Amino acid sequence: MAATSFLQKAPAYDLPTPEPESPSLTHSRQPYRFSTLCATVDSPDADHKDQHGSSSVPIYQTATFKGVGNQYDYTRSGNPTRTHLALDSARWAVQMVSEHHIAKISSAAHAFAVSSGMAALDVITRLLKPGCEVIAGDDLYGGTNRLLTYLRAHMGVTVHHVDTTAAESVIPVLNPGKTAMVLLESPTNPLLKIVDIARISALVKEKCEDAIVVVDNTMMSPYLQRPLEHGADIVYDSATKYLSGHHDLMAGVITCNRDDIAKEIAFVINSVGNALSPFDSFLLLRGTKTLAIRMDRQQSTAMLVAQMLSKLGFVTHYPGLPNHPGKEIHDRISDGYGAVLSFETGDKELSERIVAATHLWGISVSFGCVNSLISMPCVMSHASIDPATRAARGLPEDLIRLCVGIEDPADLLDDLRHALIDAGAIAYAANDYVRIAVPISRAVEKLALGEARTARPRDDREWFVSAPGKVILFGEHAVVHGVTAVAASLDLRCYGLTSPRHDGRLSVHFADIDDYRHEWDIDELPWDAVVPIPRGSEHPEVLDQRVIDAIKTRALPPETPPKSQSAAIAFLYLYMMMTSGADRPSFHFVCRATLPIGAGLGSSASFSVCVAIALLILHGRIDLPAVPPPTHRSAAPGEPGHIHIPHGGRRAIPPEIAEETNRWAFVAEKVLHGNPSGVDNSVAVYGGALAYVRPGFGKRSGMDQIQGFKSLKFLLVDSKVPRDTKALVAGVARKKAAEPETVGKLLDAIQAISNEARRALADPDVPRDVLLTGLSSLIDENHAHLVQLGVSHPSLEAIRLKTSSTPYGLSTKLTGAGGGGCAVTLVPDDFQDEKLQALISSLLADGYQPYVTAVGGSGLGILSPYDEIAIEEDEDSPPLSPPATPDPNRENGAHGLPTTIRRRFESVSTIELPQWASGRGKWLYV
Ligand code: PLP
Repeated sequence: MAATSFLQKAPAYDLPTPEPESPSLTHSRQPYRFSTLCATVDSPDADHKDQHGSSSVPIYQTATFKGVGNQYDYTRSGNPTRTHLALDSARWAVQMVSEHHIAKISSAAHAFAVSSGMAALDVITRLLKPGCEVIAGDDLYGGTNRLLTYLRAHMGVTVHHVDTTAAESVIPVLNPGKTAMVLLESPTNPLLKIVDIARISALVKEKCEDAIVVVDNTMMSPYLQRPLEHGADIVYDSATKYLSGHHDLMAGVITCNRDDIAKEIAFVINSVGNALSPFDSFLLLRGTKTLAIRMDRQQSTAMLVAQMLSKLGFVTHYPGLPNHPGKEIHDRISDGYGAVLSFETGDKELSERIVAATHLWGISVSFGCVNSLISMPCVMSHASIDPATRAARGLPEDLIRLCVGIEDPADLLDDLRHALIDAGAIAYAANDYVRIAVPISRAVEKLALGEARTARPRDDREWFVSAPGKVILFGEHAVVHGVTAVAASLDLRCYGLTSPRHDGRLSVHFADIDDYRHEWDIDELPWDAVVPIPRGSEHPEVLDQRVIDAIKTRALPPETPPKSQSAAIAFLYLYMMMTSGADRPSFHFVCRATLPIGAGLGSSASFSVCVAIALLILHGRIDLPAVPPPTHRSAAPGEPGHIHIPHGGRRAIPPEIAEETNRWAFVAEKVLHGNPSGVDNSVAVYGGALAYVRPGFGKRSGMDQIQGFKSLKFLLVDSKVPRDTKALVAGVARKKAAEPETVGKLLDAIQAISNEARRALADPDVPRDVLLTGLSSLIDENHAHLVQLGVSHPSLEAIRLKTSSTPYGLSTKLTGAGGGGCAVTLVPDDFQDEKLQALISSLLADGYQPYVTAVGGSGLGILSPYDEIAIEEDEDSPPLSPPATPDPNRENGAHGLPTTIRRRFESVSTIELPQWASGRGKWLYV
């Protein structure tokens, strides 16, 4: 039963149609539907026709009536306005009329109107006698609990609270001869628990024939649920809610079918004098005319709200949601889901902030009004239940109740979303709203970060990071069609160095990407577009286009060259998305590469990994080892300690750091490339070699590390011919469509090569010479297939020809799906150095760029160059230069210790860079 179906549904009520205003019931006409009944407030009998023919029921605002022996004498007992609405207690005994408005819309024989919902319950409980027993639900309206507690204390009534959502739970407490009343509510308020009214009524009647089943139907109204049809004896509503609909009056209505019960109720109302006043009767009559139409709108919006909250990951209580407990019972006994729902945030303070942050949703107790309301039951409507009882009844302290009104659904959803964002419960990221997993208040967050900073002053030191490029040894191009690609790390790497700044600015120097330099005032970055990803949460699959657009248009000069623009966007995107609260580290980031940029060798991935790890460290999002006090000298007051890693201390990177870096590097890759495979960044993080299969080809997809991969020497030649990856990939796809059989065979052959290479590379028992010869032939075969796929080009063929000809006789294949178009040539271990140098010179002379490299080496590296051993004891260490933006509060180079290596890092030649980097200190992880 979907919410929208209610709008189309028009239940028929088999009630006598009043004469004479309404057309008479003929054989061809259906009984009136609910909304027609609501809107048609007819006079119950000819005696009450208005003498002037007023179309609205007049208000008889009078306490007394003149004369003796007339129909009305005193308004407590009877008033014509109220008679239109419901049965008047004094008149009841005489006429037993049932066409009164509330009775009519409730399909009840008798209806009474009293001064409030609680007055209605008060009247009903006066049917109880001292010593009798009452069974009641354990999630009832707070006021009901209060009255029951009163009766227990003052009337000698025993009350058993049971979980009525399990119908059988009433059985043990049904006490024949004693149980006088069973009091139910469904759905309950505020947890929307469903009670099987029909089943419980049957169980009660079976065991305690005389017990009266009473249902509080306030949450549903007669439009959506008529419990008298399911075996209840008395139904009451707080008409303050949906029946009146405007929160402009207090009223309660009682309906029943049994004459004996009606008689008693009429007597009590007349005796205690709580019948509804004439003016309120008039207002209630007016309100009920629009009940159906209001309810339709309110519950369809409620469904949208419930779906939104549930989709965001909040525990949401609403019977319209598919997995709401007891939904099938509710669907059986009611015609709709109502407009009250509740949800949990997991944090009471967060809930308070959400409630306070809404504008359209008014903070108020009660519900059923045309205006939407928000409340926290535990501090408002249910505050009268003591906290221990609330806890025992499973009422979460953080619960927020929403009572949906008739405002435009889009405005209501929007207002709620904004409140959730303002309160820190959800964030807008990657074009969607996502729940913030561990809600921390901004203030608390700041505090926590402040503490963390004092304890871990890592933002005041330099960090040196690096990551390798990659080469696809087998399977490139074919990987798009489900063939396994074998990728390995290169010993050509990207290096990143961060130096602290103390002036609220952020600067970058991408030395090998157009020698790009830029500097930002951190406060002027487009923060208004950013909803950061909290620590511990993952970036959603899709990038947040708003942030990217804001960076492009507001943080970068329009003339930024495309490559450096992408790099700067990726850097700023990660910087801003990782930021927590006001903690925005100020530093300079220099990136250099020994890897050709844009040659299809994973330079963007190694750049992405360097950016990701540097930012993770500076934002304090990963836990590096604690900084122990210096061992070789005492720390100066206020000076941070130094990470002390013993000489030669190489460590495997902890998996959680590697995974987190990989995830963020993938985000940066997305900024750079749009739709990366994830292979490049994984190789750059983990090093070694891996086999990768794209998902979606009916095979096991994913990445597997090739264990025991042996380092191999390759000559990598950059043809310097720009290649268009997309066009090449599309070309293969076109060829496949045109010649499916031929291309299918080629792809199968490449798959067989990848399988064979993978097996051989991982096999420890394959002798080295056998491995190298085997790989050489696989390289030749693979290249031949790639030529047939149409992805080679003349320069690559020329390189291949040169490397394979005498005296070299080496095997070469093109590599990478595009980029600059590189060739890889396997260099056997025994290949003479002079020959290699000759080959290199010859290739250089032809205008190509050769690199001698090893593949399969280490992945991501993190180094704190402040390792005192490296600085103090390593005599080969060149002198270090001071930071460009020194801390005004700290003397630069205090205690004879330099505080930066930045200048040298920026100026050392690319050839010297790897060696220089390895002499910088002790790599924390490599
Ligand atoms: N029943 C329910 C479910 C209610 O929510 C309320 C009031 O909030 C009542 C009864 C009492 O109604 P009234 O406030 O009209 O006395």
